[in-house]
Amino acid sequence: MNKPNNVEKPLDEGLQAENASGAEEAPVKQAAHKTSLAVWDIASPVECASAFRIKVGAKCAHSCSLAGLGVGIYDDSGTLQGFGQLSFDVFSESVALYWLEIELAAPQAEGNYVWEARLDESRLDIGGFDIEGRTAGPADSVEPVEHAAAIKGFSFSAKAKAQYKVNIAVVGKDTQAYPGRTVVMLRPYRNYTGDDGVAAFEVAPGQYMLFARADKYEDYNEVIQIEADLDLRIELEPSEYEEDYRGNMIRIEKPSS
Ligand SMILES: [Zn+2]
Repeated sequence: MNKPNNVEKPLDEGLQAENASGAEEAPVKQAAHKTSLAVWDIASPVECASAFRIKVGAKCAHSCSLAGLGVGIYDDSGTLQGFGQLSFDVFSESVALYWLEIELAAPQAEGNYVWEARLDESRLDIGGFDIEGRTAGPADSVEPVEHAAAIKGFSFSAKAKAQYKVNIAVVGKDTQAYPGRTVVMLRPYRNYTGDDGVAAFEVAPGQYMLFARADKYEDYNEVIQIEADLDLRIELEPSEYEEDYRGNMIRIEKPSS
């Protein structure tokens, strides 16, 4: 691949020559082409501190080749998190969208993040030039074409690695026996009890709303803190009867299921 130092006349020299020799004889400097960026295929949530990949596409308003131009990914503090060069293949011929995949390291801390992809002027050091036989600018262009910077924000959330095993055994308070298939949630995790009456989870540390629902029982709700592996047994209150206003037990009419 050709390097920037193979270019016949660096842009800086061209500018100096233009200033020294007067406007009429100097080559007309083209206005930078407008560019735009797109970001897609972002997994969310990503696991904290893990590697994840995104795709970034760039397009020139004049449908130039942008192959080889650099794209930087910056976090919310403006720190460069990843960098790559646009590929030589367009994503779609119809829109001349040049693209690349960039691997990034997810933040250490849980949260929602907005990062930016930048087609950054200061990093366009090999852009606009003939690379591996392809002309970057329009066919009639003699001078390298400048492409304006473009910025595109993208958002994702980071969640801690699921590292604790949590087993929740469900019994009916009345029978002390497994009441049958029960949906159990540690929001946002969700699972069902198996034949042994236990719903198994692997979750990140944190505080969760534990919810369980089984037929003929009251919904179960409890806030729990998970900081280690946990085996928990919960008792569901039967819902077939309730006290009426006189204190008598009456049978609840349940819709047939
Ligand atoms: Zn262009």
